[in-house]
Amino acid sequence: MKILVINAGSSSLKYQLIDLDHSSVIAKGICERIGIPGSMISYKSAKGDKYEKQQDMKNHEDAIAMVLEVLADPEIGVIKNMSEIDAVGHRVLHGGEKLYDPILIDDEVLKAIEDCIPLGPLHNPANLMGIRGCMAVMPGVPMVAVFDTGWGMAMEKSHYMYALPYEAYENYKVRRYGFHGTSHRYVTGRALELLGNPNAKVITCHLGNGSSVSCSKAGKCVDTSMGLTPLEGLPMGTRCGSIDPAIMPFLMDKTGMTAKEMDTYMNKKSGMLGISGISSDFRDLGAAAEKGDERAKLALDMFVYAVKKYIGSYAAALNGADAIVFTAGVGENDREVRADILRDMEYMGIVADFDYNMTCPRGEEVCISKPESKVKIFVIPTDEEMTIARDTARLVAK
Ligand code: ADP
Repeated sequence: MKILVINAGSSSLKYQLIDLDHSSVIAKGICERIGIPGSMISYKSAKGDKYEKQQDMKNHEDAIAMVLEVLADPEIGVIKNMSEIDAVGHRVLHGGEKLYDPILIDDEVLKAIEDCIPLGPLHNPANLMGIRGCMAVMPGVPMVAVFDTGWGMAMEKSHYMYALPYEAYENYKVRRYGFHGTSHRYVTGRALELLGNPNAKVITCHLGNGSSVSCSKAGKCVDTSMGLTPLEGLPMGTRCGSIDPAIMPFLMDKTGMTAKEMDTYMNKKSGMLGISGISSDFRDLGAAAEKGDERAKLALDMFVYAVKKYIGSYAAALNGADAIVFTAGVGENDREVRADILRDMEYMGIVADFDYNMTCPRGEEVCISKPESKVKIFVIPTDEEMTIARDTARLVAK
């Protein structure tokens, strides 16, 4: 079965064609600058063919048409024609409280995703453009939506509510939703398999440009660090993460920033970039810190400290953990950051293998705790696209 997985942003569209019979990616790429002069598509096939082309793409429909054209290209393509694609899986950011499990898309689902636009004002309209573009170019092909917020929907009410007047929840659905759901779900599932215990308690650290920590019992989310929006929780590449909420009116009063400007300040100018003044990229920060840059070191120290605190608080929430998982760009690759997080955690029964942490292979599932460690520490490469493809196939098969 071949599934096309689409992750549509406002001006970009990432795609992967997945062959589920072999659990392999046949081809992938990205369309950029959709609707902006200078649009381009890039493409890479598993056979090793690469392609980049500047071509006008007015909208997401044009982008999907381009994707199908290159996938079926007689020279570098990987399919003969579109009919080889059995279904399309779409990543959708926000499903609100009504949409959580992956679902076959029909008019009612489209309307429900539209109703969630106030909760995901940047992403949901883009996701809808991706879905509608696909529907126009691939009529009759089943489409499935997989929600980034789906994982968090298993949380108990006392875990997802904010202590604001209750009507903020009733009137505006202000609550914790959590994001990176497909990633937390996938790596948690893998950890349960590696542990050989479907009921285990697992803390998952998705550390990338955007970062979140989540915890679960028996594969069901108990808590997660992102909230109503992906701003809450850890300090991230350019996001401030959790701060005293009173800082917002304080700074708005001092600087005259509007609410919208404050939002940009916290989402785009803060975090690792805001503290270091150098970069949001952990590789740049690591290099600068090594050369003695104090603020790069401070940014990294703040990040490590925040992850440690989440692990500690989630271990308390779960009454202990069986495993901790590191995933995403930083979690999978940044050995120093992992080591700094894991240092001085013996109180929890963590015995990390710091030597193996520095030498273990990249891109593979590895265990970086010592055999005597009560808590297993895994590095598990995340695979959101494969998860979306499997969800899609499962629903289509029904
Ligand atoms: P996104 O949230 O955009 O999906 P990723 O999960 O791809 O982000 O993570 C991007 C982050 O991972 C960047 O900050 C980058 O510096 C970091 N990263 C990637 N590779 C390495 C590496 N080899 N060492 C340290 N950090 C890395």
